[in-house]
Amino acid sequence: MKAIQTLGLTKQYRRGEPACDHISLTVNQGEIFGLLGPNGAGKSTLVKMLAGLVAPSAGTARVLGFSFKELVPRRQMGYLPELFRYPPWLTAEEVLTFHAGLLRTRIGADDRDQLLARVGLEGRGRERVRAFSKGMQQRLGLAVALVGKPALVLLDEPTSALDPIGRFEVGRLLQDLKREGTTIFLNSHLLSDVEKLCDSVALIDKGRVVYQGSLKDAIYGGVRRYRLQVDQLTAEAARAVQASIPHVVIQWGDGGRAEIGVGLMRPELPGLVAQLVSLGARVYEVEPDHSSLEEWFLSRVGKDTR
Ligand code: ADP
Repeated sequence: MKAIQTLGLTKQYRRGEPACDHISLTVNQGEIFGLLGPNGAGKSTLVKMLAGLVAPSAGTARVLGFSFKELVPRRQMGYLPELFRYPPWLTAEEVLTFHAGLLRTRIGADDRDQLLARVGLEGRGRERVRAFSKGMQQRLGLAVALVGKPALVLLDEPTSALDPIGRFEVGRLLQDLKREGTTIFLNSHLLSDVEKLCDSVALIDKGRVVYQGSLKDAIYGGVRRYRLQVDQLTAEAARAVQASIPHVVIQWGDGGRAEIGVGLMRPELPGLVAQLVSLGARVYEVEPDHSSLEEWFLSRVGKDTR
C-alpha cells in the first residue's frame, strides 16, 4: 500500500484557472516527501484536499488506503496547516489536551511532556500561547500534528517561522519520525530543507506536476557541484588536481588560500580530499553547491507567479 496515491486530482475554485490540475502523484510509506513549487502553485490546496478540508472538483486519491469517501481516521493523520492560530489564552498543555479531545482520545501528562520536549518546548507547557513567539507557536503546531501518534503527517511550511537552529531541530525531529516509520509529506519553499530531508519530491507549477522523483537525480544526474575551502595550496598542487579531474575551477585568495569548485560523484570526494592533503594542502570545508538547486527550480517553473 502507498501512503498517498492521487489520480487526476483537480480543484477548481470559483474563479480563475484550476488551483490543482490533474495531479497524479505517489508517496511511499515511511518516506519524507517534499512538495515544491512557487507561491500560488497549488501546494496548500493539494495538502488541504489530502487532509479532507477542501473537496476536489475531479479526480481521486487514496490516503493510507482510504478513499475520500471513507475519510482517513483522524488519529492516523496529523496536519499542520500553513496559517494557524491557537486561542491566546490557552496554555500549551491545554492546546494539546483540546486537540487530543478532537481526536476522541486522551493525552496523559507524561505523553504531553514528552511531546512538548520533542518539539523543543520542554517545560513550557504551563505558558500561554499569548506569550509564545512565532517560532514557539510553530513548534506547538507540530506537537498538535503529532498528538494522535499518526502514521502520516502533512506539514504545510513547518519551518517557515523558525530560525536556523529551529530548522535544524525540526529537521532532526522529522528524521526521528521517519525512523519510527512515520510518513511525512512536507510542503516547503525552503529548497535547502527539502534537499536535506526529502527522499523524493514533486515539483508543481500552476497546478500541474512538472517533476516527480528523486531530487538528486533531477539536479545532478549523479554528478553534483561541490566547493572546497583550502589553504596552503601550491600552484603545482593546483595543476595536479586540474589534471586529474575535469571541470575544476580554482579561485585564489591570499597566501595559498583557495576555493576549489568541482563537479563530482559523491564517492569521488574522499579521493579528491586525500589527493589535496597528500599535496600539502589543508582542507577546511567541503560543501555542496546549493545554487544548482535554485537553478534547477527556476529552470522548471514559470517565472510569472500568480
Ligand atoms: P501555494 O500553496 O502553492 O502557494 P495555493 O494552493 O494557496 O498555492 O493557491 C493556488 C491558487 O489557488 C492561487 O491562485 C490561489 O489564489 C487560489 N486559491 C487558493 N485558495 C483559494 C480559495 N479558498 N478560493 C479561491 N481561490 C483560492
